[in-house]
Amino acid sequence: MIETIHQPARDIKVVDRSDVVVVGGGPAGISAAVSAARNGASVTLLERYPYVGGLAAGGMVLVLDDMINELEITVRGICMEMIERMKAWGLCVTPTDRDRLIEFRDTPEAWQRWARWGLFDFHTPSMPHPICFSAAFDPDAFKRAAYDILGVAGVKLRTHSWFSSAIVEGRTIKGVICQTKAGMEAILGDVVIDTTGDLDVAASAGASYVESNFILTTVSRWGGVDTDAAERFEREDPEAFKLVDHEAKRLIGGCWSFWWLKTPLPGIVWLNCPHMPKLSGLKVEDLTQAELEGRARIARLIDFAREKMPGFENAYVVDFAPQTGVRQTRLLDGDYVVTKDDVMARRHFTDTVCRGRDYYTPYRAMLPKEIDQLIVAGRHYSATPQAQKSSREIPPCMAMGEAAGVAAVVALNAGTTVRKADVKAIQKQMRAQGADPGDVPSENATYLEAAE
Ligand SMILES: Cc1cc2nc3c(=O)[nH]c(=O)nc-3n(C[C@H](O)[C@H](O)[C@H](O)COP(=O)(O)OP(=O)(O)OC[C@H]3O[C@@H](n4cnc5c(N)ncnc54)[C@H](O)[C@@H]3O)c2cc1C
Repeated sequence: MIETIHQPARDIKVVDRSDVVVVGGGPAGISAAVSAARNGASVTLLERYPYVGGLAAGGMVLVLDDMINELEITVRGICMEMIERMKAWGLCVTPTDRDRLIEFRDTPEAWQRWARWGLFDFHTPSMPHPICFSAAFDPDAFKRAAYDILGVAGVKLRTHSWFSSAIVEGRTIKGVICQTKAGMEAILGDVVIDTTGDLDVAASAGASYVESNFILTTVSRWGGVDTDAAERFEREDPEAFKLVDHEAKRLIGGCWSFWWLKTPLPGIVWLNCPHMPKLSGLKVEDLTQAELEGRARIARLIDFAREKMPGFENAYVVDFAPQTGVRQTRLLDGDYVVTKDDVMARRHFTDTVCRGRDYYTPYRAMLPKEIDQLIVAGRHYSATPQAQKSSREIPPCMAMGEAAGVAAVVALNAGTTVRKADVKAIQKQMRAQGADPGDVPSENATYLEAAE
């Protein structure tokens, strides 16, 4: 039998009230908050950590990808604005050829120049993958760019605010309660947008969801790496490289084809590994185990790399990402559930409000069936676990957030519920603010389906 204690009811202070309350200041949450505020709403953004950026900052996931359909950039809007800001500071690198925006090449030269930045299209099965428009960036630059646009838009930011429960009356969400150093605090809103990545708000409100998991990762950054020497070794002595790389991968115990990637900071690389399967991003015990096990694996790896890998002789660990690398936990079971077939077949929907690389996201996949005035955007959107695995990168999550912010204001301005928000008005406004709502299917979209 599970032991429980009874917590008595108590009064909680209302500390803020806004038209739109966004919970979770990651890529989707930043976009949602900025988008809603630019469209005239008062907006409060709540974040559990001291900083915004989610996995793109605290998680040190340092490549923005999944944003092109062959030569067309499909995720624009706020995501592209952040890229341009970071580039202006010299803290973001994209594959460009002189002043052309896109270099999309599957030549050995392009591969040699850009692959170690992680700027390739890993969804194309041919090897080497084509180099494509994507962006390698610095995590602090992501935070700085986010603070700039949140500040200019007038978003009320409350960090150190850990969402703990939803305030629901009947089937309508009215606000949220956060745990803070000052105790419990309530924040009320006419629309709530859940961008926690783990569906914390919608689950607490009573929305249906499925629970799943994928690999966990403790991302780290290493300094003191002579990346030119390391790349030269790989190029000029492929047989010796293969042996050393194979042993490094064995020590990591699970990683993608490149276990280290360059960052815009000279001599600093990031490690998108190790892969730790069968752990839940919702369980304290599993998250604790991931932290300890991930650090132990990286400690083994750096000892080996310093001894055996040219270019890594003076390497040291700069830091481990403070936000654990959780890819998938709860997924909304919403008005529409996106399937892997929808993603792979590039199924188009008449209520498409944003896009990933070459797939389309219907507005219905952002709406919980049971709860009104709640929109869900980001990696926990309504998709099957298999579909989410290939549609959860940072840029598509930002596009979803941007659409959620627009949808909230479209509904508020029309005096209607978010479920009844005029999809055409959302699409029109997305286009007006430089985002691609995906309302016009590309030539390679295969199926057309009417919105219900
Ligand atoms: C190791 C790893 C490698 C990846 N590699 C890539 C890659 O190379 N390129 C790419 O584009 N994508 C990559 N991804 C996927 C991508 O990082 C995520 O899918 C994306 O960041 C999701 O954005 P989000 O805003 O939905 O969620 P998150 O980035 O998780 O942001 C959620 C935010 O909500 C906050 N939050 C959560 N719960 C609460 C709460 N209860 N109260 C208050 N705040 C809360 C969090 O602190 C966070 O700021 C990777 C993911 C991982 C884990």
